[in-house]
Amino acid sequence: MISAKGLPLKGEPVQIVIATENHTFDLDEPALEKILLRKDVQDKMVAIVSVAGAFRKGKSFLLDFFLRYLSAGQHMTGEEDWLGDDNAPLEGFSWRGGSDRDTTGILMWSEPFFMTNKNGEEVVILLMDTQGAFDSESTVKDCATIFALSTMISSVQVFNLTQNIQEDDLQHLQLFTEYGRLALEANDNVSKPFQTLQFLVRDWSFPYEAPYGAAGGRQILEKRLKISDKQHPELQQIRKHISSCFDKISCFLLPHPGLKVATNPYFDGRLKEIEPEFLGQLQILTPLLLAKENIVVKEINGQKVRCKEMLEYFKAYMKIYQG
Ligand code: GDP
Ligand code: MG
Repeated sequence: MISAKGLPLKGEPVQIVIATENHTFDLDEPALEKILLRKDVQDKMVAIVSVAGAFRKGKSFLLDFFLRYLSAGQHMTGEEDWLGDDNAPLEGFSWRGGSDRDTTGILMWSEPFFMTNKNGEEVVILLMDTQGAFDSESTVKDCATIFALSTMISSVQVFNLTQNIQEDDLQHLQLFTEYGRLALEANDNVSKPFQTLQFLVRDWSFPYEAPYGAAGGRQILEKRLKISDKQHPELQQIRKHISSCFDKISCFLLPHPGLKVATNPYFDGRLKEIEPEFLGQLQILTPLLLAKENIVVKEINGQKVRCKEMLEYFKAYMKIYQG
């Protein structure tokens, strides 16, 4: 595999949570231990960035750019161009493919990335990809479980949507986070169970209404999450619930990446064939989530979590959904 600067991209996607045929979930403990208990990893604080949402909406594609950023970051000193070679195929978590999805579950990148954050703490960054939400083979419970688990585990959950934030997206989010919140309340007593929620709207096509990027995202988010007396109580409830679940909620509007990305079956992810406006916004979004001044360390009950502790939480969270 070739990364941004022509250096080989280290690592591979590892399936750590697997959905079984009878709609239960298994944790591949040895696979997870291999990542979290590495000698140079286990005692460091962890930041886990997850991308969740409907199938075939560019989640894995996006994560592969995150991989490029993080891989380049290991050698980067400043605001260098990390997007890489114009003609290099995009690799990492598998994207593309026909309309068949991969196995339902949660994948983690096998190689941790290291970063010193703004407090001078050494942080390990892990990327997580989720699969199987909202498609025909998964039950609502499967989707809720994967979304809830990935939200509980991550410090940043990217909720990947297409075109807009719709009312049913908010309903799903409420259902899924309620599922996670209930699970957590059985164990601890925290006011806000989750950390950062990043709505990411793909193919935003109303830049004249709200501009691409974080400012436009803020505008749309405010509009969608606004609570007013005129709303049906149910709509008010959904909005209150979502706001009460996360420490921080933001939204980013990405432009359409161009027809080659969306429709050409032979497109292999090379930059040359992606709309420059999309790439420009990607260069703003990625550091907003992953730069050392923005990276969010995983906290549970107000305590920063280290990798080896995360392993235990992982096991405990899985038990909740296996029971
Ligand atoms: P996932 O199932 O959500 O992980 O989706 P993938 O990352 O596998 O991408 C599915 C398809 O969407 C691929 O053919 C990509 O080329 C395409 N794609 C990636 N990003 C975007 C985007 O922002 N907009 C559109 N319309 N298509 C995209
Ligand atoms: Mg995918």
